[in-house]
Amino acid sequence: MEDQSALDKKYFIDEEVFNCPFCNRRNVIYVIIDDFKFDWNKDKVCYVYLTECTSCDNVSMHLSFKDIKGKKVSYYYQETWFKRFLPDIDIDSEIFFSQPTSFFVVDRRIKGILRELITEAEGCLKMNYLTGASACMRKAIYELLVHEKVEGDNYETRIKSLKKKYPDSDPSYFDILASIQGMTSDKIHEQSWDKWDSPKLKLIIETLKSVLYDIYVTPQLKKERALEIQRLKEEVNKGKKGAKQAPD
Ligand SMILES: [Zn+2]
Repeated sequence: MEDQSALDKKYFIDEEVFNCPFCNRRNVIYVIIDDFKFDWNKDKVCYVYLTECTSCDNVSMHLSFKDIKGKKVSYYYQETWFKRFLPDIDIDSEIFFSQPTSFFVVDRRIKGILRELITEAEGCLKMNYLTGASACMRKAIYELLVHEKVEGDNYETRIKSLKKKYPDSDPSYFDILASIQGMTSDKIHEQSWDKWDSPKLKLIIETLKSVLYDIYVTPQLKKERALEIQRLKEEVNKGKKGAKQAPD
């Protein structure tokens, strides 16, 4: 079967199922229990959607500048007919803010402050707040370097030290981070800096997420798998011992 893990990184997988931020169940059916619109400003309408998880019944809120709800009722749940989001659209990319945030889609094994900054950067980027997104990403990279206590006189050498420290992760990701223009290894507010444009920000966000995944998640997954194999081996050995003791 094709690798479907990318779907775990989404909020809404399609018009029927989502990854619930409350009960953390993946691929669970949701319904739009309510929706309304208001004037964001003179020229822009904002659509608000309240979605309920059919597993835990908690309700989350989602904002979009597009009307992304289908026109006809199509889903029957608890004796009521509901409308769904339009089929064949990438729902996540149409929503610029959600509560709970999409914070949960960044793996929990990554340090909280880094997850928060990346989620905030992604939120800012969706709203086209490039200065805010840039500031969050600068701070995220800075936090990572501080947390990892890497040595170096400047930003580039510190990223290179990080690359050396984690030889199992993809070296090209570190090269991308090292080549970011205008980074310093100092705190963001100590120097003036230019914001990045949207394509650059997307590249930086995805690269940092990949680095964090390589550093904090992959080794943990390996460890978990090794423990599981160990447990299975012990089960087999226990079975063998039992068989020896059995009278023949
Ligand atoms: Zn739920």
